[in-house]
Amino acid sequence: MDETPYWNPRHETMSRDQLNALQVRKLRNLVEWVDGQVPWQAKRLRDAGVTPDQVTSLDDLRRIPLMTREQWMEGQLEHPPYGPILAAPTETAIRYHMTSGTTGATPIRVLDSMKDWEWIAEMWCYGLWGFGVRPRDVVFVAFGYSTFIGFWGLHYACEKLGCLALPGGAMTTEQRVKQLIDMGATVVCSTPTYALRMAQEAKAMGVDLAKSPVERLILSGEPAGSIPATKKLIESEWGAKAGDTAGMTELGTIMIFECDRQPGGTHIIEDHYIEEVLDPESAEPVPYGEMGERVVTSFGRGFIPVLRYRTRDFVVKVPGSICTCGRTFDIYDGGIRGRVDDMKLVRGTNVYPRAVEAIVREFPQIDEFQIHLFTAEGIRDEIEVLVEVPGDASAEQILRDLGKRLADAHEGLRFGVEQADTGTLPRFELKAKRVLDERIVIGTGGERRQQA
Ligand SMILES: [Zn+2]
Repeated sequence: MDETPYWNPRHETMSRDQLNALQVRKLRNLVEWVDGQVPWQAKRLRDAGVTPDQVTSLDDLRRIPLMTREQWMEGQLEHPPYGPILAAPTETAIRYHMTSGTTGATPIRVLDSMKDWEWIAEMWCYGLWGFGVRPRDVVFVAFGYSTFIGFWGLHYACEKLGCLALPGGAMTTEQRVKQLIDMGATVVCSTPTYALRMAQEAKAMGVDLAKSPVERLILSGEPAGSIPATKKLIESEWGAKAGDTAGMTELGTIMIFECDRQPGGTHIIEDHYIEEVLDPESAEPVPYGEMGERVVTSFGRGFIPVLRYRTRDFVVKVPGSICTCGRTFDIYDGGIRGRVDDMKLVRGTNVYPRAVEAIVREFPQIDEFQIHLFTAEGIRDEIEVLVEVPGDASAEQILRDLGKRLADAHEGLRFGVEQADTGTLPRFELKAKRVLDERIVIGTGGERRQQA
């Protein structure tokens, strides 16, 4: 029964024409449903002159108004606690979740029904099966099982596949390492940061993960699962293959996954989503191979219709044919490349945390790091990278080499590189927050400090 590498063989190998026809049909149904069920959305569509019978090609998608996180949030504030986005009465919901709120902003709140959860798990099945997870696998989920949606859907997908799922909530890192070893886990699921954290802990415990039965890691929650240096480090520490996935609370589940051929990017689940890539300024589509902002339309969720939602994620779309797996689903080369809001301008040079991480991870002696921005002498922006280099490693040389690599990659911008005492930098179980921006901003309202 294991023979096919695809979860949905018919859809994952459809021709582009068939796929487009399927998407148009689903889009028309979505518009029709929204028109009848969600007055707030229906008004937006009517104001833009969009009616279901006019949706006859993918070009018609572009007439549907874009939706931003700010609009979602405004609706929530005006009509608490969920806003006007729901397509079903709250009594029919079975579960509540919310965004993790890395920016400290009010979280986005979502509800789902039993049927939604069936679909949420189905999306994870595309990813798990596609990366080679099978019913015989023992899957350890290193995740807190809270109101953050995280790996909840993956957990149900494991049950749907017939795997043995080990829920790793409410445990210390040491307990997690011990359990996944004791129980003979063959698959481990976590954020990329936490996969490295568990590897450090295992070392301290004298456990050689490379000799464990773990064959696969399923990564999610941070873009780092597709940063080549980070992935390589995780794979060598664990002696296992690491597959990237990405999802959003706004969608309830994942929309992209890496297949077992590891083409350097993630396939888009195109029979359940339309993923557009637009110029963040002009909102015009950008061609294959160019960086732009992801805009997502989802067909699966029953409680919350998502039409042309601006994600603020940077991506580069390439044709599915670059991968040898036979899927026709297009690929985000390099996964999620970062967020539009992540970019820092330092003395005229753009700095992306992802690019800094990609360089830091070339130095496997570095355990943890932090990017610190501050104002020197009240006027000058400075950037430094704090690193932990435990053990006897020759830190001097590492600091020097890292500083040079960072400057070379940033038009000569000078980075301070400082060694932090082992164990003093923050550790993360969910989304890592490694950028500390303490620059003083001079404005009309006086000085304020930025925090990110
Ligand atoms: Zn593939």
